[in-house]
Amino acid sequence: MDVAADPRVGALPTDPMEPVPYRVVERGQETDDVASLVLAPVAAALPAPGPGQFMMIWAPGVGEIPISVSRVVAEGHLVLTVRSVGAVSAAVVGLGPGDVVGLRGPFGTQWPVADVAGRRVLVVAGGLGLAPLRIAVEQLVAAAPAHLTLVMGARQPDQLLFPDDLRRWAAAGVGVHVTVDAADRGWHGAVGTATAMVTRIGWAHDAAFVCGPEIMMTTAARATVALGTPADSVWVSLERNMHCGIARCGRCQLGPYLLCRDGAVVPWTESMALLEVRGR
Ligand SMILES: Cc1cc2nc3c(=O)[nH]c(=O)nc-3n(C[C@H](O)[C@H](O)[C@H](O)COP(=O)(O)OP(=O)(O)OC[C@H]3O[C@@H](n4cnc5c(N)ncnc54)[C@H](O)[C@@H]3O)c2cc1C
Repeated sequence: MDVAADPRVGALPTDPMEPVPYRVVERGQETDDVASLVLAPVAAALPAPGPGQFMMIWAPGVGEIPISVSRVVAEGHLVLTVRSVGAVSAAVVGLGPGDVVGLRGPFGTQWPVADVAGRRVLVVAGGLGLAPLRIAVEQLVAAAPAHLTLVMGARQPDQLLFPDDLRRWAAAGVGVHVTVDAADRGWHGAVGTATAMVTRIGWAHDAAFVCGPEIMMTTAARATVALGTPADSVWVSLERNMHCGIARCGRCQLGPYLLCRDGAVVPWTESMALLEVRGR
C-alpha cells in the first residue's frame, strides 16, 4: 500500500469498514507464539480505545481479525498482543517495524472501571486474557492499588504474559496471585487453576472482571460469587468470531447480543446462560 501517495491521508475515512493505515514501530516477543506490536498512525489516528475495546486489524493480502488493545503507549500509539493461531494472526505476529497494516475501531464495550474504582476489585485473567484487561488493571492500579486483587493463570511458567507488569503492580500494592497449570521443579510459585486460586484467596470482593477461556470465566465467576461477590458486579468477556465490528453482518450473534457492539465485555448475570452456547 503506497500510503504516502494516498490523497486521503490525514483524514479519517467516513466509511467505518475502511481500514486506517498504521505502521508497526516496535515488536516484542511475549512468549513462543505471542507477540506485541506497537502501532503508530501513518497519518490520521483513530479515537483512543477504552479498557477492553478491540480493533479490527487487517494484514494486507491475508485478512482481518479482532484484537484487543493491550496498551496505549503514547498519543495515538496502540499496542496489540497477538497469539499466532491461524492464517491472519500468524501474518500479524510475523510483522515487524516498518510494516503497514489497516486498523478499524475501537469497537465494543468497556470494563466499567469508573464504576468500581476505589472498591475491592478482583481481576481474574487466564493466559492471553490479561491483554484485554491490561488497560483496566493500569487504571485500577492508578486509582487504588491496595484494593485490587489480580489472579493470573497460565498453562506453564513460560506462557505467563507481561511478567514485568505483574512485578510492577505487586510492588505498587496490588495482591498479585500467579498460578500455572503445570511446572517443573524450577517453579516456586502456585500450581493449579485460576479458579482454584480464587477459591484459595477465599474472600468476597465488591466487583470482579474475568477474562480468559470460557470454561475458566464460568468457573471463576461462579467461585467468586460463591464467596460473596455480588453477581451483578461481575463482568466477563465474550469473544466470538467477528467480521464487520459495527453490528451489521450478524456473524458474532450470541443470543440477544451482537457481540462486536454489545460485547465483548458483558455482565455475568446476563451472560452466564449464553456461556453454555458453544461458539468457536
Ligand atoms: C473481541 C475479541 C478480542 C480478541 N482479542 C485478541 C487478542 O487480544 N489477542 C489475540 O491473540 N486474539 C484475540 N482474539 C482472537 C483472535 O481474533 C483470533 O485468534 C483470530 O481471529 C484468529 O484468526 P486466524 O485467521 O489467525 O485463525 P483462524 O484460522 O480463523 O482460527 C484459528 C483457530 O482459532 C480459533 N478462533 C478463531 N477466532 C476465535 C475467537 N474469536 N475466539 C476463540 N477462538 C477463535 C478457530 O476456531 C481456530 O481453531 C480476539 C477475538 C475477539 C472476538
